[in-house]
Amino acid sequence: MHTVLFIEDDDAIRLALRLALEDEGYDVVEAADGAAGLVAFGARQPDIVLVDLGLPGVSGLEVCRAMRSTSSVPIIIVTAQTATADLVAGLEAGADDYVTKPVVPRELAARMSALLRRVQLSGVADATDGVQKIGPLEVRRDQQLVLKDGVELSLTKTEYRLLCEFADHPGAVLSRDQLLERVWGYDYLGDSRLVDAHVRRLRVKVEAVPDDPQLIVTARGLGYRLLDR
Ligand code: CA
Repeated sequence: MHTVLFIEDDDAIRLALRLALEDEGYDVVEAADGAAGLVAFGARQPDIVLVDLGLPGVSGLEVCRAMRSTSSVPIIIVTAQTATADLVAGLEAGADDYVTKPVVPRELAARMSALLRRVQLSGVADATDGVQKIGPLEVRRDQQLVLKDGVELSLTKTEYRLLCEFADHPGAVLSRDQLLERVWGYDYLGDSRLVDAHVRRLRVKVEAVPDDPQLIVTARGLGYRLLDR
């Protein structure tokens, strides 16, 4: 059974989603604000976190950043609207995915199980692949880690899978839809902001100058590609 930490200040929403998630077989740990959420995170070590961005006190963004500073736990943010800067900020703060209010329990459960499945898949070491060198990077699939100039990078599971997707297709342009399907596993039309925010985060970690990428470059109007040189 997976444990989900659900941080939400609205009692009615928290109760409704807790019941729905328990029906899906989750063990639900609730927190009504960001500070309590961070305490519960340390105490309960959940398998996945669901955090509302609109929280009093310690904001949802701060919660994401604090968790990301110590953990690669899958995080889904809950936003009031998709058309806000909040959503992009949440993704850049380290969230793997998002859902919008009003949250449809079945959609949320589908997102959560897709995310958990990816984490489990990427937890299976691929012993057949050796070390792949890409510029200053060294991708060690057997150990699930990436080194840059010999120093281990701290990547989330989603960032790791995204980088491996590029590494599997060096030089090839990958569209945002292809990346969504292969990395997030969505078979419906997804949101390209997920891809863009993750590419930006990956660049911050792998590029010498993130604003002038030399590894993961933009193919204008098409998507992204990895320059292998
Ligand atoms: Ca709220």
